[in-house]
Parts: sequence; structure tokens; C-alpha cells
Amino acid sequence: MSFAITAAEIPAIPIAGSDARFPVHRIYCIGRNYAEHAKEMGASVERSQPMFFMKPADAIVTDDADVPYPSATQDLHHEVEMIVALARGGRDIAREHALDCVFGYGVGLDLTRRDLQAAAKAKGHPWDAAKGFDASAPVSMLRRVEDVGHPRTGRLSLDVNGERRQQADISEMIFDVAAIIHELSRLWTLAPGDLIFTGTPAGVAMLQRNDRVHARLDGIVELDARIV
Ligand code: MN
Repeated sequence: MSFAITAAEIPAIPIAGSDARFPVHRIYCIGRNYAEHAKEMGASVERSQPMFFMKPADAIVTDDADVPYPSATQDLHHEVEMIVALARGGRDIAREHALDCVFGYGVGLDLTRRDLQAAAKAKGHPWDAAKGFDASAPVSMLRRVEDVGHPRTGRLSLDVNGERRQQADISEMIFDVAAIIHELSRLWTLAPGDLIFTGTPAGVAMLQRNDRVHARLDGIVELDARIV
């Protein structure tokens, strides 16, 4: 096949212990997946109905590259999250088979224009401008399931300029990884290359230019980023 214009490059994430990279198909995110964060946002904790949104695949920032401060906001927020990369997809995936789809795990930042999100919430508008902007998804390298298994516990944390801002255990997630995959696959056909942001703990706060961000999923992976 030939294209009429030059096709965009496929966004891709480095993999620990491999020269190959993980090609990103779609980025799914779950909101309000830690009770303390839902509370700090003034949202009710919904244990039966997950809330999903998406970011464009090319919003990823990899290889600890600098993250440009986005346009059109005065209130950029960090949200540290465990990320899950899928090697397989499908529809209506049962919870008990969901983890078979997982390629690996990492840590990422669901960067948020909080002021635009507040305005969208107030008007009942979509969240795309608040969540899906350019460079809104810095991610670490991925660790393969063969190397790290399926982490069910472990500390997820974020430091800004050496100061702890967010910390929780991934076991506190309201919807665990298998449940998220199950629920997503009822709404969309999941595919190899899909990436899932699994929600952020409490402590979300503002980022400024020149801030140094260090995100960590203990025993698995770390991410360093500078806001420029
Ligand atoms: Mn989030």
C-alpha cells in the first residue's frame, strides 16, 4: 500500500532487557480507582461502575525525555499510575483469563490540565482537552511478565524535586488489573499494543516548569522526568 502523505511513526516504549520496543495502539485510563484520590477530588467512590477515558497513543513521552509544559493551562497536575501493556486483546474477556493478555508493567504519569478538567466537569463537557493533550503520558520502560510476574502489591510513589507527593500500595486499587481488562473489553475490542493507566492515589498536585519528577513502582521500575 502507498500513502498519499507520510504516515505518522508508531509510538513505542522501550522494554527492559530487549532491543525491541512495545508499539502503542491505544491508551485507556481509569479514573477514581483509589478511594483516597476520589475523595480528594470530591467524587463519590463507585465500586460497581468504572469510569474510563482515553489519551492518544502519541501522547507518550519515553526514555526519560523532557516533558514540555502544555499550553492553555495554569494548573498542570501529576498523577502517578501503574501502567499495563497488553500483548493480546479481545472482547468480553473473563476476569480469570484477563491477565493472560498482559505483556508487562511499568509506571506512568497521567498528566492533567486540572483547570480545564474542572471547567469540563462543571459544564458536563468531555475531558479530552484536560487529559489527552500532547505529551500528557510520560511512561517508564516496560518490564515483561516473564521477568516480574503480575504485581498485586507494591508501593507506587511520586517525588517532585525530592519531596514525596504521592504514595500508596497498588493493592488499594478499587478495580484490579484483571477487573479493568474485563470491564474495558466489554466496552471496546482490546488489541495487542493497548496500554492501560490504572488510576492514581491521593496527593495529586501542581507541577511547574523545571520540576524534577521521580515516579517509582517498587521492585519493578522507575521513571524520571523534567518539566520544561
Ligand atoms: Mn489518572
